[in-house]
Amino acid sequence: MRIDLPIRWKLTVWYSGILTLILFIFSCFVYLYLKQSLEESIDAKIKSIGDVLSSSLADREGMNIFGNFERYLENVLGRKPKGKIIQIMDRSGKIGAKTSDLEQETLPTSLSTLERALRGEVVYETLETVSPRIRTITIPIKEKDRVTSIVQVGTSLEEFDETMRRLFLILVVAIPCLVGLTGMGGFLLARKGLKPVDEIRRAALRISSKNLDERIDVGRRTDELGRLASTFNEMIGRLRDAFNRVNQFSSDVSHELKTPLTIMKGETEVALRKDRTKEEYEALLRSHLEEIDRMTRIVDDLLFLSKVEAREMALNLERVNVREMLLEVCGDMRIFADKKGVELILREVAEVVILGDELKLRRLFSNIIENGLKYTNPGGFVEVSSTTENGNLFVSIRDNGIGIKGEDLKYIFDRFFRADRSRNRETGIGLGLSISKMVAELHGGSISVESEVGKGTVFTVRLPLNP
Ligand code: ADP
Repeated sequence: MRIDLPIRWKLTVWYSGILTLILFIFSCFVYLYLKQSLEESIDAKIKSIGDVLSSSLADREGMNIFGNFERYLENVLGRKPKGKIIQIMDRSGKIGAKTSDLEQETLPTSLSTLERALRGEVVYETLETVSPRIRTITIPIKEKDRVTSIVQVGTSLEEFDETMRRLFLILVVAIPCLVGLTGMGGFLLARKGLKPVDEIRRAALRISSKNLDERIDVGRRTDELGRLASTFNEMIGRLRDAFNRVNQFSSDVSHELKTPLTIMKGETEVALRKDRTKEEYEALLRSHLEEIDRMTRIVDDLLFLSKVEAREMALNLERVNVREMLLEVCGDMRIFADKKGVELILREVAEVVILGDELKLRRLFSNIIENGLKYTNPGGFVEVSSTTENGNLFVSIRDNGIGIKGEDLKYIFDRFFRADRSRNRETGIGLGLSISKMVAELHGGSISVESEVGKGTVFTVRLPLNP
C-alpha cells in the first residue's frame, strides 16, 4: 500500500534523512581523523624516547647502567619518563633493567616480537589484554650489524581511550539531538510556507460553474505561491469565458433555428385558417423550403465546426491550382456581384499549386469574397490578389465597403458574431468566418484582417506552399 504523506512531512523526512547522513559521514571522518592523529602522536612520542635510549645505550657499550637505571634515564632523557614503562632486554629476552610509572610492572613480550627485533625490525604493538591498554615500541640495539640488546618503551592508552570514548558519546548524543531540532524547525517552516497552498485549495473548492467570478485572494504575494494563485485565477477567468461562450453559443443556435421555425409556424397557421388555392399552397411550400434550406445550412455549418474541433475532420488533400480555383469562385460570385452592383476584380494571382482540400478551400474563399460583396454598397468594389513570400501564399480580399469597428475586429471569427445583429437576415448568421478560419488552420495557415469603418476591409489568407 502506498502511503502519501503530506508534503510538509515528506519535506521534513527528506530533510532530516539527508542531514543525518551528512552528520554521520562528517562524524565518522572527525572520529577516524582524530584517532589516527592521536595514534601517530603516541607512536612518535614512544619512538623518540626509544631512539634516544637506543643510541645512548649503543654509545655506552659495556658500561654498567643497570645499577641506577632511573637516574640514567633522567640523565639521558632530561626528565623522569611519566606514564611510561621502559625496559632493556638481552638477546634471550631476559630483562636487564626496567622502570615503570604504571601499575603494570613489566611489558610482556611475545616470541614473535622478540624474533622480529632480533632480525633488526622496529616493532609497534598494542597490548589489548591489559587494562588500561598499552602501546609499545620494541627497538633493537645493534653492534656491528648484530643485535646485542633490545629497548622497549610502553605508554598507557588510558587517556587516548578516554578521549575517544568521550568523542564517541558526544557524537552519538549530538547527532540525534541536532537532527531532531533541525527537523522540528524544518517542519514548522514547511508548515508555514505551505499554508497558502491550503488556502488556495479551499478557495478552489468553493469555486464551481455557478460562481466563476470568485477569485483566490492573492494579496500582494509575488512569490511562487502568489504566481500559482494568479495562474489559477487566470485559468478560472478563461473557464468563465469558455462557459459564457458555450451559453452564448447555445442561445445563438436556439435563436437562429427558432426564427425559421416561427416563420414556418406562423405561415402554416395563417394558411390553415381557410381554404387556399393551389398556387397559395405552392408559395407556402416554397417559403418553407427556403427556411428548411436555411436551417440545413446552419446545422451543416455547426456540424463542420464541431467535427474540426473534435479533430474528426480529415482533409482530402490534392494538388490545387490556386489561380484556377479563385477564378472559378469569382465566376460563381459574379451573378451576386452584378445583382448588388459591386465590381468583383481578380488581379495578379500567382500561378501556384498547393496541396490542399479544394472543396474546403473554395468554401474559405467564397465566404470571404461573399462577405466583401455583402458588406460593400453598390458602386463599390471587391478585389482579389495574391503574392508568395517566405514559402507562403498570401491571398488578399480587399473591399471599399462599410468596414468593421475596431472593438468588433477581435470577435469577427467567433461563431454567430455579427457586427450588426439587427441587420437583414439575408446578410448571414455569423458562422462564415469561423469556418474560413478553421479551414485555413487545418491547412497550417491563418487569416488576418485590417479594417477601417467607412473605408473598407482587407482579409489576408496565408497558406503554406508546402504544408
Ligand atoms: P456573416 O454570415 O454574418 O457574414 P461571418 O462570420 O462571415 O458571418 O462574418 C461575421 C461578421 O463580420 C459579419 O456579420 C460582419 O459584421 C463582419 N464582416 C465580415 N466581413 C466583412 C467585410 N468584408 N466588411 C464588413 N464587415 C464584415
